[in-house]
Amino acid sequence: TNPLDIKAIRNDFPILSRTVYNRPLIYLDNAATTQKPRCVVEAIENVYYNQNSNIHRGVHYLSQRATEAHEAARATVRDFIHATSSNEIIFTRGTTEAINLLATSYGETFCNENDEIIISTMEHHANIVPWQMLRDRKGIKLKIIPLTETGELDIPAFESLFSEKTKLISVTHVSNVLGTINPIKEIIEKAHARNIPVLIDGAQAVSHLAVDVQQLDVDFYVFSGHKVYGPNGIGVLYGKENWLEMLPPYHGGGEMIAHVSFDKTIFADLPFKFEAGTPDYVGSVALATALNYLQSFGMDNIAAYEKSLLEDATEKMLKIEGMQIFGNAPQKSSVISFLVNNIHPFDMGTLLDKLGIAVRTGHHCAMPLMTALQIDGTARASFAFYNTHDEIDAFIAAIERITKMF
Ligand code: PMP
Repeated sequence: TNPLDIKAIRNDFPILSRTVYNRPLIYLDNAATTQKPRCVVEAIENVYYNQNSNIHRGVHYLSQRATEAHEAARATVRDFIHATSSNEIIFTRGTTEAINLLATSYGETFCNENDEIIISTMEHHANIVPWQMLRDRKGIKLKIIPLTETGELDIPAFESLFSEKTKLISVTHVSNVLGTINPIKEIIEKAHARNIPVLIDGAQAVSHLAVDVQQLDVDFYVFSGHKVYGPNGIGVLYGKENWLEMLPPYHGGGEMIAHVSFDKTIFADLPFKFEAGTPDYVGSVALATALNYLQSFGMDNIAAYEKSLLEDATEKMLKIEGMQIFGNAPQKSSVISFLVNNIHPFDMGTLLDKLGIAVRTGHHCAMPLMTALQIDGTARASFAFYNTHDEIDAFIAAIERITKMF
C-alpha cells in the first residue's frame, strides 16, 4: 500500500486537471520542470499582497517582515539538505548560475594553466560549458569520465584520470537523460583521499531522493528551485563554509558589501558576499514552501512510489517491439529516455502531444552524451510523485498506437 494519497496530491496541483486538445493532460516532462502546488503559488501571492518590500537594512515594518521571511527560507533550505549553517546556503538564479559562480570564483582562484578538472560524459551543458569557458580563459584541461554499457560512471576509469594537476571533480548526482543515480559518496571519498574538492550537480536529484550534504561530505552542491516544485528563477549553491570563506565574490554590487569607498570595498560576510543586488525574496519564500510541502510526504515515500512508476513503465515499455531504452543502471531515478524502431523522437513527441501526453524530445542539453550513445536524440518521459499508474498505461497505449502508424 502506498502511504501517499496520490489523488489528494494531484488536487494540490491545479494544472494537472486541465485538458490539452480536449484530452486530460498527462504531464511526463518533470525532469525539465515540475508543476507547482497551490501552496507555492499562494506563497508568491502572499509575499506580493502582504509583505512586499526590499529586504535587509530596512527600518520599516514590511522590510523587516520580508527580511525575516527570506532568512527563514534560507534556514529551510539549510535543513532540507542538512547543511550545518545558513552561511553555507547561497541563493542563485538556478543550477546554471551556481555552476558559473564556481567556475569563475573557484576556477579563477584555484586553477592555473594545465590544471585539470574532471567532469563526466553524462553532464548537462550547464556542467560543461562554464568549465570550457574557464579552460579558454585559464588554459586548464577537462578530463572526461567515460560511461559503462548500462550508463553508469566507469569508476576505475575515473580513478585513472586523477593526477597531480586535478583541481576539482564536478559531476551530476542524477543524469537527466539516463536517470542514473551516481555513487557520489564513493566519488567524494576517492577525491578527498587526494585532497580534491567535489561539486555535485543536484538538479535532477533533490526532487527524488533525500540529500544530506554532511553525510555526503560534499564540498559544493547545487540545484534549481523549479525542478523541486518551487518557482522558476531561484536556485541554491551549497558550499562548505571554509570553502566559501576562501572564494572571492562572483558579482559585485549592493547587498554584498560591508563598506565601499572609491579606493576599496570590504565585502560582506557569508552568505551575502555571493548575493549581489536585490535578492529574490519572493522566490526564496516560495522555494521554502515547496521544500516544506515535499518533506511533509517524506522523501523516502516519494522515492519508493516513483520507483514503482519507473518499474511499471520500464516493464511495459520493453514489451513494445523495437523499443530501446537508454540507461538501465540498477540505481535509477524516474526518467526514461527511449527510441522506438526508427521513429524520429520529434515525431514521437509530437504525436504523443496530440494525445495529451507531454514528453521531451531531442538532445536534452547533453549533446556529448548523445555523441557517446551515437544518436541524435531521444524521447524522454520523466515521472513525478503526482503521476499515476493509469497515466503510464495511457502513455504505453499511446506509444503502441503511434508505433503502428509507422
Ligand atoms: N543540470 C542538470 C542535470 C539538469 O537536468 C539541468 C536542467 N535541465 C541543469 C543542470 C540546469 O538547470 P537550470 O536550467 O535550472 O539552471
